Amino acid sequence: MPLSSAKRVLLKLSGEVLMGEQDFGIDPAFVMELAQEVKAAKDNGLEICLVIGGGNIFRGMAGAAQGMDRAQADYMGMLATVMNALAMQNALEQLGVETRVQSAVQMDQVCEPVIRRRAERHLEKGRVVIFAAGVGAPYFTTDSGAALRAAEMRCDALLKGTSVDGVYDSDPKTNPGAQRFDTVTYDRVLADNLKVMDASAVALCRDNDIPIVVFSIREKGNLARVLAGEGVQTIVK
Ligand code: UDP
Repeated sequence: MPLSSAKRVLLKLSGEVLMGEQDFGIDPAFVMELAQEVKAAKDNGLEICLVIGGGNIFRGMAGAAQGMDRAQADYMGMLATVMNALAMQNALEQLGVETRVQSAVQMDQVCEPVIRRRAERHLEKGRVVIFAAGVGAPYFTTDSGAALRAAEMRCDALLKGTSVDGVYDSDPKTNPGAQRFDTVTYDRVLADNLKVMDASAVALCRDNDIPIVVFSIREKGNLARVLAGEGVQTIVK
């Protein structure tokens, strides 16, 4: 199915994107710009699920590398994703977009727990549903959380908005001759260990036939272009 006829998508934003030009944390002005892009897509009639990473605040692996217990550090990472989800919820609601945050780690005072049927209802009512805390278990990432929610919410595509404009055959930062793929298969991504999402997320998308669209969310208007089937991107299918 061409992306332009998608009815429901899951947009995964890495936490780093929320930093804007900062080195750490959340840049509220840039989050507002991202929210404007999401609003434009929603105003076009699209149902949108959002998953936001936590790498701008804390990553479990980084904590483990400094001697922390990995699972404990991962729970801290999950909490970071909840902060990002709340920041995005705030920006969207300031723009008049109704949203609900559902967290895989229960936090009743701040947001709803993940309940698929309730999430369905929110989408039907035109709300954006932001899924926080990944899959709710350590040793996973928000990429896996995104693939899982895309599958259970039956999304037509998983859009991965990141800092690079697609998937390359080698690292474009170190190899100026690196080639970007327009399309690439799940199996090639897995066999060549291409930098898209972690392997469990890619395998889940493959097994459930969910195309992964990798594009740069840093350029203004890019989400709309990608949704229209234009712009620079790589489709993993
Ligand atoms: N995390 C986890 N389980 C999950 C999702 C996230 O343990 O299901 C933790 C993990 O420590 C991860 C951190 O939360 O490093 C932040 O998520 P991620 O690294 O996926 O964020 P991103 O790279 O997308 O910003």
